[in-house]
Amino acid sequence: WMREADVWDGLRSHLNPKLWQLLETAAQAAQERGWQLYLVGGAVRDVLRGMQSPQETEVVLTDIDLVVDGFHQSATVGAGVELATVLQERFAGARLDVHGAFQTAALLWHNDPVFDSLWLDIATARTEFYPYPAANPEVEASSIRQDLYRRDFTINALAIRLTTPRQGKLLDFFGGVLDLQRGWVRVLHANSFIEDPTRIFRAVRFAVRFGFEIEPETERFIRHAIASGVYERSRSLNPRTPALQARLKSELKYLLQASYWPRALRELDRLGALQCLHPQLRLTRELWRRLQLMDRGLRRFENWHHLSHWRMLLEVLLSQVEMGDGEFSRAAVAQQLQLPEETVQRLATLGERCERLQGGLKLARRPSEVVQVLEGEELAGLLLVALGMGRSLRRKVWQYLTEWAHVKPLLNGEDLKQLGYKPGPQFKEMLADIQAGTLDGDFGGSREAAIAFVCDRYPL
Ligand code: ATP
Repeated sequence: WMREADVWDGLRSHLNPKLWQLLETAAQAAQERGWQLYLVGGAVRDVLRGMQSPQETEVVLTDIDLVVDGFHQSATVGAGVELATVLQERFAGARLDVHGAFQTAALLWHNDPVFDSLWLDIATARTEFYPYPAANPEVEASSIRQDLYRRDFTINALAIRLTTPRQGKLLDFFGGVLDLQRGWVRVLHANSFIEDPTRIFRAVRFAVRFGFEIEPETERFIRHAIASGVYERSRSLNPRTPALQARLKSELKYLLQASYWPRALRELDRLGALQCLHPQLRLTRELWRRLQLMDRGLRRFENWHHLSHWRMLLEVLLSQVEMGDGEFSRAAVAQQLQLPEETVQRLATLGERCERLQGGLKLARRPSEVVQVLEGEELAGLLLVALGMGRSLRRKVWQYLTEWAHVKPLLNGEDLKQLGYKPGPQFKEMLADIQAGTLDGDFGGSREAAIAFVCDRYPL
Protein backbone atom coordinates (compact mmCIF):
# COMPACT_ATOMS: atom_id res chain seq x y z
CA TRP A 1 0.00 0.00 0.00
CA MET A 2 3.03 2.24 -0.07
CA ARG A 3 3.10 2.55 -3.85
CA GLU A 4 3.54 6.14 -5.00
CA ALA A 5 0.06 6.29 -6.51
CA ASP A 6 -1.46 4.99 -3.28
CA VAL A 7 0.35 7.49 -1.14
CA TRP A 8 -0.70 10.26 -3.50
CA ASP A 9 -4.34 9.18 -3.45
CA GLY A 10 -4.20 8.73 0.31
CA LEU A 11 -2.89 12.23 0.71
CA ARG A 12 -5.53 13.70 -1.55
CA SER A 13 -8.41 11.84 0.05
CA HIS A 14 -7.39 12.57 3.63
CA LEU A 15 -6.81 16.28 3.24
CA ASN A 16 -9.22 19.12 3.07
CA PRO A 17 -9.60 20.05 -0.67
CA LYS A 18 -8.40 23.60 -0.08
CA LEU A 19 -5.29 22.36 1.63
CA TRP A 20 -4.72 19.94 -1.18
CA GLN A 21 -4.97 22.81 -3.65
CA LEU A 22 -2.42 24.74 -1.63
CA LEU A 23 0.04 21.86 -1.74
CA GLU A 24 -0.48 21.32 -5.46
CA THR A 25 0.15 25.00 -6.13
CA ALA A 26 3.34 24.90 -4.07
CA ALA A 27 4.48 21.78 -5.90
CA GLN A 28 3.84 23.34 -9.28
CA ALA A 29 5.74 26.48 -8.38
CA ALA A 30 8.70 24.37 -7.22
CA GLN A 31 8.50 22.26 -10.36
CA GLU A 32 8.67 25.32 -12.59
CA ARG A 33 11.89 26.32 -10.89
CA GLY A 34 13.45 22.88 -11.17
CA TRP A 35 13.26 22.18 -7.43
CA GLN A 36 11.93 19.22 -5.50
CA LEU A 37 9.31 19.85 -2.85
CA TYR A 38 8.55 17.52 0.07
CA LEU A 39 5.88 17.32 2.71
CA VAL A 40 7.69 16.34 5.91
CA GLY A 41 7.31 15.78 9.65
CA GLY A 42 4.09 15.54 11.61
CA ALA A 43 1.80 16.02 8.60
CA VAL A 44 3.18 12.91 6.87
CA ARG A 45 2.92 10.95 10.10
CA ASP A 46 -0.67 12.01 10.65
CA VAL A 47 -1.75 11.30 7.07
CA LEU A 48 -0.15 7.83 7.16
CA ARG A 49 -1.89 7.11 10.46
CA GLY A 50 -5.13 8.25 8.84
CA MET A 51 -4.50 5.86 5.96
CA GLN A 52 -3.90 3.00 8.41
CA SER A 53 -7.13 3.61 10.21
CA PRO A 54 -10.25 1.90 8.87
CA GLN A 55 -12.36 5.08 8.97
CA GLU A 56 -12.03 7.40 6.00
CA THR A 57 -11.92 10.60 8.00
CA GLU A 58 -10.24 13.85 7.09
CA VAL A 59 -6.89 14.41 8.78
CA VAL A 60 -6.99 17.85 10.30
CA LEU A 61 -3.68 19.62 9.94
CA THR A 62 -2.97 22.95 11.54
CA ASP A 63 0.74 22.77 11.08
CA ILE A 64 2.44 21.82 7.81
CA ASP A 65 6.14 21.56 7.07
CA LEU A 66 7.51 21.66 3.52
CA VAL A 67 11.14 21.29 2.47
CA VAL A 68 12.58 22.44 -0.85
CA ASP A 69 15.52 20.51 -2.19
CA GLY A 70 17.42 21.62 -5.25
CA PHE A 71 19.83 18.73 -5.68
CA HIS A 72 22.81 21.07 -5.31
CA GLN A 73 21.66 23.02 -8.30
CA SER A 74 19.48 26.04 -8.41
CA ALA A 75 17.69 25.96 -5.06
CA THR A 76 19.10 28.70 -2.96
CA VAL A 77 18.80 29.64 0.65
CA GLY A 78 15.91 31.88 -0.32
CA ALA A 79 13.91 29.15 -2.07
CA GLY A 80 11.48 28.74 0.82
CA VAL A 81 10.80 32.47 0.86
CA GLU A 82 10.23 32.52 -2.89
CA LEU A 83 7.68 29.71 -2.74
CA ALA A 84 5.95 31.27 0.25
CA THR A 85 5.61 34.53 -1.66
CA VAL A 86 3.96 32.74 -4.58
CA LEU A 87 1.49 31.08 -2.19
CA GLN A 88 0.78 34.31 -0.38
CA GLU A 89 -0.23 35.93 -3.68
CA ARG A 90 -2.41 33.00 -4.72
CA PHE A 91 -4.12 32.32 -1.37
CA ALA A 92 -5.14 35.51 0.34
CA GLY A 93 -5.09 36.27 4.02
CA ALA A 94 -1.70 34.95 5.13
CA ARG A 95 1.03 36.73 6.99
CA LEU A 96 4.56 35.94 5.83
CA ASP A 97 7.37 35.61 8.36
CA VAL A 98 10.98 34.94 7.45
CA HIS A 99 13.25 33.70 10.18
CA GLY A 100 16.73 32.47 10.83
CA ALA A 101 19.92 32.56 8.85
CA PHE A 102 18.55 29.67 6.81
CA GLN A 103 15.62 31.83 5.79
CA THR A 104 12.83 29.53 6.67
CA ALA A 105 9.57 31.09 5.57
CA ALA A 106 6.33 30.72 7.48
CA LEU A 107 2.86 31.55 6.23
CA LEU A 108 0.25 32.03 8.90
CA TRP A 109 -3.48 32.11 8.46
CA HIS A 110 -5.34 33.10 11.56
CA ASN A 111 -9.12 32.57 11.88
CA ASP A 112 -9.24 32.47 8.11
CA PRO A 113 -12.56 31.66 6.39
CA VAL A 114 -10.83 29.06 4.19
CA PHE A 115 -7.95 27.69 6.26
CA ASP A 116 -9.07 28.59 9.77
CA SER A 117 -5.77 28.53 11.65
CA LEU A 118 -2.92 27.18 9.59
CA TRP A 119 0.83 27.44 9.92
CA LEU A 120 2.85 26.50 6.84
CA ASP A 121 6.62 26.35 7.16
CA ILE A 122 8.83 26.16 4.07
CA ALA A 123 12.49 25.39 4.68
CA THR A 124 15.34 24.73 2.32
CA ALA A 125 17.10 21.38 2.78
CA ARG A 126 20.61 22.13 3.83
CA THR A 127 23.91 20.67 4.83
CA GLU A 128 26.18 22.50 7.16
CA PHE A 129 29.70 21.91 6.00
CA TYR A 130 32.96 23.25 7.28
CA PRO A 131 35.36 24.19 4.47
CA TYR A 132 38.11 24.46 7.02
CA PRO A 133 38.22 24.07 10.81
CA ALA A 134 36.63 26.74 12.96
CA ALA A 135 34.92 28.41 10.05
CA ASN A 136 31.25 29.28 10.31
CA PRO A 137 29.03 26.63 8.89
CA GLU A 138 28.09 27.59 5.40
CA VAL A 139 24.77 26.82 4.01
CA GLU A 140 24.33 24.85 0.87
CA ALA A 141 21.07 23.79 -0.70
CA SER A 142 21.24 20.08 -0.28
CA SER A 143 19.80 16.78 0.44
CA ILE A 144 16.46 16.02 2.02
CA ARG A 145 18.00 12.98 3.71
CA GLN A 146 20.19 15.20 5.84
CA ASP A 147 17.19 17.28 6.75
CA LEU A 148 15.27 14.23 7.89
CA TYR A 149 18.25 12.88 9.79
CA ARG A 150 18.19 15.95 12.02
CA ARG A 151 14.68 15.17 13.24
CA ASP A 152 13.66 13.61 16.50
CA PHE A 153 11.90 10.28 15.89
CA THR A 154 11.54 7.89 12.99
CA ILE A 155 7.80 8.55 12.79
CA ASN A 156 8.57 12.26 12.30
CA ALA A 157 11.38 11.67 9.81
CA LEU A 158 9.20 10.69 6.86
CA ALA A 159 8.68 12.73 3.71
CA ILE A 160 6.36 12.59 0.72
CA ARG A 161 7.56 14.05 -2.56
CA LEU A 162 5.06 16.50 -4.00
CA THR A 163 6.86 17.19 -7.28
CA THR A 164 7.41 14.95 -10.31
CA PRO A 165 9.06 12.66 -11.20
CA ARG A 166 7.79 10.12 -8.72
CA GLN A 167 5.15 12.30 -7.16
CA GLY A 168 3.85 10.60 -4.00
CA LYS A 169 7.13 8.81 -3.35
CA LEU A 170 7.44 8.09 0.35
CA LEU A 171 10.90 8.70 1.76
CA ASP A 172 11.48 6.46 4.73
CA PHE A 173 15.21 6.19 5.45
CA PHE A 174 14.92 5.15 9.09
CA GLY A 175 12.02 2.70 9.29
CA GLY A 176 9.36 5.19 10.32
CA VAL A 177 6.51 3.39 8.53
CA LEU A 178 7.23 0.16 10.37
CA ASP A 179 7.40 2.06 13.67
CA LEU A 180 4.04 3.66 12.93
CA GLN A 181 2.61 0.19 12.41
CA ARG A 182 4.24 -1.21 15.54
CA GLY A 183 3.40 1.84 17.60
CA TRP A 184 6.95 2.75 18.51
CA VAL A 185 8.58 6.05 19.31
CA ARG A 186 12.18 5.52 18.29
CA VAL A 187 15.09 7.94 17.94
CA LEU A 188 17.40 8.05 14.96
CA HIS A 189 20.66 7.82 16.86
CA ALA A 190 22.05 7.11 20.33
CA ASN A 191 23.07 10.71 21.08
CA SER A 192 19.74 12.22 20.27
CA PHE A 193 18.72 13.06 23.86
CA ILE A 194 22.17 14.32 24.78
CA GLU A 195 22.01 16.64 21.81
CA ASP A 196 18.58 17.93 22.76
CA PRO A 197 17.04 16.98 26.12
CA THR A 198 13.64 18.44 25.20
CA ARG A 199 13.24 15.36 23.01
CA ILE A 200 12.71 13.35 26.21
CA PHE A 201 9.51 15.31 26.76
CA ARG A 202 8.59 15.01 23.10
CA ALA A 203 9.03 11.22 23.19
CA VAL A 204 6.58 11.02 26.08
CA ARG A 205 4.18 13.37 24.32
CA PHE A 206 4.00 11.24 21.16
CA ALA A 207 3.89 7.95 23.08
CA VAL A 208 1.02 9.01 25.31
CA ARG A 209 -0.89 10.89 22.66
CA PHE A 210 -0.89 8.03 20.16
CA GLY A 211 -0.91 5.19 22.69
CA PHE A 212 2.55 4.18 21.42
CA GLU A 213 5.45 2.71 23.35
CA ILE A 214 8.86 4.21 23.69
CA GLU A 215 11.02 1.63 21.94
CA PRO A 216 13.23 -0.20 24.51
CA GLU A 217 16.58 1.00 23.19
CA THR A 218 15.26 4.56 22.95
CA GLU A 219 14.22 4.27 26.58
CA ARG A 220 17.76 3.21 27.47
CA PHE A 221 19.08 6.30 25.66
CA ILE A 222 16.69 8.47 27.65
CA ARG A 223 17.74 6.96 30.95
CA HIS A 224 21.38 7.26 30.00
CA ALA A 225 21.00 10.92 29.07
CA ILE A 226 19.29 11.71 32.36
CA ALA A 227 21.78 9.72 34.41
CA SER A 228 24.67 11.51 32.72
CA GLY A 229 23.26 14.82 33.96
CA VAL A 230 22.45 16.09 30.49
CA TYR A 231 19.98 18.52 31.83
CA GLU A 232 22.02 20.10 34.62
CA ARG A 233 24.95 20.37 32.26
CA SER A 234 23.01 22.17 29.63
CA ARG A 235 21.41 24.42 32.21
CA SER A 236 24.56 25.60 33.92
CA LEU A 237 27.16 25.58 31.19
CA ASN A 238 25.61 25.91 27.84
CA PRO A 239 25.25 29.30 26.20
CA ARG A 240 22.20 27.90 24.40
CA THR A 241 20.50 27.51 27.76
CA PRO A 242 17.89 30.27 27.46
CA ALA A 243 16.68 28.82 24.18
CA LEU A 244 16.71 25.31 25.58
CA GLN A 245 14.71 26.37 28.64
CA ALA A 246 12.18 28.17 26.47
CA ARG A 247 11.71 25.04 24.36
CA LEU A 248 11.42 22.90 27.45
CA LYS A 249 8.73 25.23 28.72
CA SER A 250 6.77 24.97 25.49
CA GLU A 251 7.00 21.15 25.59
CA LEU A 252 5.75 21.19 29.17
CA LYS A 253 2.94 23.50 28.21
CA TYR A 254 1.97 21.17 25.39
CA LEU A 255 1.87 18.19 27.77
CA LEU A 256 0.08 19.89 30.63
CA GLN A 257 -2.55 21.43 28.37
CA ALA A 258 -3.48 18.09 26.87
CA SER A 259 -6.27 15.92 28.21
CA TYR A 260 -3.68 13.17 28.66
CA TRP A 261 -1.53 15.14 31.11
CA PRO A 262 -1.96 12.63 33.98
CA ARG A 263 -0.61 9.76 31.88
CA ALA A 264 2.17 11.95 30.51
CA LEU A 265 3.35 12.89 34.00
CA ARG A 266 3.30 9.26 35.11
CA GLU A 267 5.37 8.32 32.09
CA LEU A 268 7.85 11.16 32.70
CA ASP A 269 8.17 10.02 36.29
CA ARG A 270 8.66 6.40 35.26
CA LEU A 271 11.57 7.50 33.09
CA GLY A 272 12.99 9.71 35.85
CA ALA A 273 12.55 12.69 33.53
CA LEU A 274 10.88 14.97 36.07
CA GLN A 275 14.40 15.39 37.38
CA CYS A 276 15.01 17.53 34.33
CA LEU A 277 12.85 20.13 36.07
CA HIS A 278 14.37 19.69 39.46
CA PRO A 279 16.70 16.97 40.78
CA GLN A 280 14.34 16.24 43.70
CA LEU A 281 11.11 16.06 41.78
CA ARG A 282 9.21 12.76 41.99
CA LEU A 283 5.55 12.04 41.39
CA THR A 284 4.77 11.03 44.96
CA ARG A 285 1.26 10.13 46.13
CA GLU A 286 1.09 13.51 47.81
CA LEU A 287 2.03 15.38 44.63
CA TRP A 288 -0.45 13.32 42.67
CA ARG A 289 -3.21 14.18 45.17
CA ARG A 290 -2.38 17.87 44.92
CA LEU A 291 -2.40 17.83 41.13
CA GLN A 292 -5.82 16.21 41.08
CA LEU A 293 -7.14 18.72 43.60
CA MET A 294 -5.78 21.64 41.61
CA ASP A 295 -7.28 20.26 38.42
CA ARG A 296 -10.68 19.98 40.08
CA GLY A 297 -10.37 23.38 41.72
CA LEU A 298 -9.49 25.05 38.43
CA ARG A 299 -12.45 23.51 36.67
CA ARG A 300 -14.69 24.77 39.42
CA PHE A 301 -13.43 28.32 39.33
CA GLU A 302 -12.60 28.73 35.67
CA ASN A 303 -15.77 30.67 34.93
CA TRP A 304 -14.99 33.58 37.11
CA HIS A 305 -11.22 33.63 36.99
CA HIS A 306 -8.96 33.07 34.06
CA LEU A 307 -6.09 31.16 35.49
CA SER A 308 -3.84 29.36 33.09
CA HIS A 309 -4.54 25.69 33.74
CA TRP A 310 -1.21 24.30 32.56
CA ARG A 311 0.77 26.93 34.44
CA MET A 312 -1.04 26.20 37.67
CA LEU A 313 -0.31 22.48 37.30
CA LEU A 314 3.34 23.34 36.74
CA GLU A 315 3.30 25.55 39.83
CA VAL A 316 1.95 22.62 41.83
CA LEU A 317 4.83 20.49 40.56
CA LEU A 318 7.40 23.11 41.46
CA SER A 319 5.78 23.92 44.80
CA GLN A 320 6.48 20.34 45.86
CA VAL A 321 10.18 20.98 45.72
CA GLU A 322 11.65 21.92 49.06
CA MET A 323 12.51 25.54 49.37
CA GLY A 324 16.30 25.35 49.24
CA ASP A 325 18.20 28.20 47.73
CA GLY A 326 20.54 28.97 44.88
CA GLU A 327 19.86 27.78 41.39
CA PHE A 328 17.56 24.96 42.52
CA SER A 329 15.12 26.94 44.60
CA ARG A 330 11.55 26.76 43.32
CA ALA A 331 11.56 30.36 42.26
CA ALA A 332 14.92 30.04 40.50
CA VAL A 333 13.70 27.02 38.57
CA ALA A 334 10.58 28.94 37.55
CA GLN A 335 12.74 31.82 36.46
CA GLN A 336 15.03 29.60 34.40
CA LEU A 337 11.97 28.18 32.71
CA GLN A 338 11.05 31.76 31.84
CA LEU A 339 7.70 31.57 33.58
CA PRO A 340 6.06 34.94 34.24
CA GLU A 341 7.27 37.05 37.14
CA GLU A 342 3.93 36.54 38.86
CA THR A 343 4.59 32.78 39.04
CA VAL A 344 8.16 33.28 40.24
CA GLN A 345 6.94 35.56 43.04
CA ARG A 346 4.13 33.23 44.01
CA LEU A 347 6.54 30.33 44.40
CA ALA A 348 9.09 32.46 46.22
CA THR A 349 6.53 33.56 48.83
CA LEU A 350 4.64 30.31 49.11
CA GLY A 351 6.16 29.17 52.41
CA GLU A 352 5.46 32.45 54.14
CA ARG A 353 1.89 32.61 52.75
CA CYS A 354 1.23 29.03 53.86
CA GLU A 355 2.18 29.78 57.44
CA ARG A 356 0.26 33.03 57.61
CA LEU A 357 -2.97 31.69 56.14
CA GLN A 358 -2.92 28.35 57.96
CA GLY A 359 -2.29 30.13 61.26
CA GLY A 360 -5.12 32.60 60.61
CA LEU A 361 -7.61 29.95 59.46
CA LYS A 362 -6.99 27.73 62.46
CA LEU A 363 -8.21 30.53 64.71
CA ALA A 364 -11.09 31.60 62.47
CA ARG A 365 -14.36 30.06 63.62
CA ARG A 366 -17.06 32.23 62.08
CA PRO A 367 -17.40 32.88 58.34
CA SER A 368 -16.66 36.57 58.88
CA GLU A 369 -13.37 35.63 60.53
CA VAL A 370 -12.45 33.38 57.61
CA VAL A 371 -13.23 36.23 55.21
CA GLN A 372 -11.03 38.54 57.24
CA VAL A 373 -8.09 36.15 56.88
CA LEU A 374 -8.54 35.43 53.20
CA GLU A 375 -9.82 38.71 51.82
CA GLY A 376 -7.47 40.24 49.26
CA GLU A 377 -5.56 37.01 48.61
CA GLU A 378 -5.20 36.29 44.94
CA LEU A 379 -6.90 33.12 43.77
CA ALA A 380 -3.85 31.33 42.35
CA GLY A 381 -1.83 31.77 45.52
CA LEU A 382 -4.76 30.72 47.66
CA LEU A 383 -5.36 27.54 45.64
CA LEU A 384 -1.69 26.57 45.92
CA VAL A 385 -1.73 27.02 49.67
CA ALA A 386 -5.08 25.23 50.08
CA LEU A 387 -3.67 22.07 48.49
CA GLY A 388 -1.39 21.59 51.45
CA MET A 389 -4.06 22.08 54.12
CA GLY A 390 -5.97 19.45 56.01
CA ARG A 391 -9.55 18.78 55.03
CA SER A 392 -11.26 21.10 57.52
CA LEU A 393 -9.15 24.16 56.68
CA ARG A 394 -9.41 23.43 52.99
CA ARG A 395 -13.17 23.31 53.29
CA LYS A 396 -13.10 26.82 54.76
CA VAL A 397 -11.14 28.03 51.73
CA TRP A 398 -13.57 26.41 49.28
CA GLN A 399 -16.53 27.90 51.14
CA TYR A 400 -14.87 31.28 51.09
CA LEU A 401 -14.24 31.05 47.35
CA THR A 402 -17.65 29.73 46.38
CA GLU A 403 -19.93 31.57 48.83
CA TRP A 404 -18.55 33.90 51.41
CA ALA A 405 -16.41 36.02 49.10
CA HIS A 406 -19.58 36.94 47.19
CA VAL A 407 -21.89 37.79 50.06
CA LYS A 408 -23.24 41.36 49.90
CA PRO A 409 -24.02 43.10 53.22
CA LEU A 410 -27.75 43.46 53.90
CA LEU A 411 -27.38 47.24 54.23
CA ASN A 412 -25.14 49.63 52.31
CA GLY A 413 -23.96 53.22 52.81
CA GLU A 414 -27.08 54.58 51.11
CA ASP A 415 -29.28 52.67 53.56
CA LEU A 416 -27.35 54.10 56.51
CA LYS A 417 -27.87 57.64 55.19
CA GLN A 418 -31.57 56.98 54.87
CA LEU A 419 -31.61 55.87 58.50
CA GLY A 420 -30.25 59.30 59.38
CA TYR A 421 -26.55 58.55 59.88
CA LYS A 422 -24.04 61.11 58.62
CA PRO A 423 -21.29 59.76 56.36
CA GLY A 424 -17.99 59.82 58.24
CA PRO A 425 -15.18 57.65 59.56
CA GLN A 426 -17.61 55.54 61.56
CA PHE A 427 -19.38 54.41 58.38
CA LYS A 428 -16.58 52.01 57.56
CA GLU A 429 -16.81 50.32 60.92
CA MET A 430 -20.59 50.12 60.72
CA LEU A 431 -20.51 48.58 57.26
CA ALA A 432 -17.90 46.06 58.41
CA ASP A 433 -20.15 45.07 61.31
CA ILE A 434 -23.14 44.67 59.00
CA GLN A 435 -21.06 42.62 56.59
CA ALA A 436 -19.87 40.34 59.41
CA GLY A 437 -23.37 39.93 60.77
CA THR A 438 -24.70 39.14 57.30
CA LEU A 439 -21.96 36.52 56.73
CA ASP A 440 -22.48 34.91 60.11
CA GLY A 441 -26.24 34.72 59.66
CA ASP A 442 -26.92 36.92 62.69
CA PHE A 443 -29.77 38.70 60.91
CA GLY A 444 -31.35 35.57 59.48
CA GLY A 445 -31.28 37.25 56.08
CA SER A 446 -33.65 40.01 57.20
CA ARG A 447 -33.02 43.70 56.50
CA GLU A 448 -35.22 44.66 59.43
CA ALA A 449 -33.05 42.65 61.79
CA ALA A 450 -29.95 44.34 60.35
CA ILE A 451 -31.51 47.77 60.86
CA ALA A 452 -32.45 46.88 64.43
CA PHE A 453 -28.87 45.75 65.06
CA VAL A 454 -27.41 49.03 63.71
CA CYS A 455 -29.80 51.25 65.64
CA ASP A 456 -29.03 49.35 68.83
CA ARG A 457 -25.26 49.30 68.34
CA TYR A 458 -24.88 52.86 67.02
CA PRO A 459 -27.53 55.05 68.70
CA LEU A 460 -28.21 58.25 66.74
P1 ATP B 1 2.18 18.12 16.38
O1 ATP B 1 1.10 17.45 15.61
O2 ATP B 1 2.11 17.85 17.83
O3 ATP B 1 2.38 19.56 16.05
P2 ATP B 1 4.66 17.76 15.06
O4 ATP B 1 5.41 16.53 14.73
O5 ATP B 1 4.22 18.63 13.95
O6 ATP B 1 3.47 17.32 15.96
P3 ATP B 1 6.20 19.95 16.07
O7 ATP B 1 6.63 20.19 17.46
O8 ATP B 1 5.31 20.93 15.40
O9 ATP B 1 5.53 18.52 16.12
O10 ATP B 1 7.50 19.73 15.19
C1 ATP B 1 7.46 19.65 13.78
C2 ATP B 1 8.54 18.72 13.27
O11 ATP B 1 9.83 19.28 13.57
C3 ATP B 1 8.52 17.34 13.94
O12 ATP B 1 7.73 16.44 13.22
C4 ATP B 1 9.97 16.95 13.97
O13 ATP B 1 10.31 16.32 12.77
C5 ATP B 1 10.71 18.27 14.03
N1 ATP B 1 11.15 18.61 15.39
C6 ATP B 1 10.52 19.38 16.29
N2 ATP B 1 11.20 19.48 17.44
C7 ATP B 1 12.31 18.76 17.27
C8 ATP B 1 13.43 18.47 18.10
N3 ATP B 1 13.52 18.93 19.34
N4 ATP B 1 14.41 17.70 17.58
C9 ATP B 1 14.31 17.25 16.31
N5 ATP B 1 13.28 17.45 15.51
C10 ATP B 1 12.29 18.20 15.95
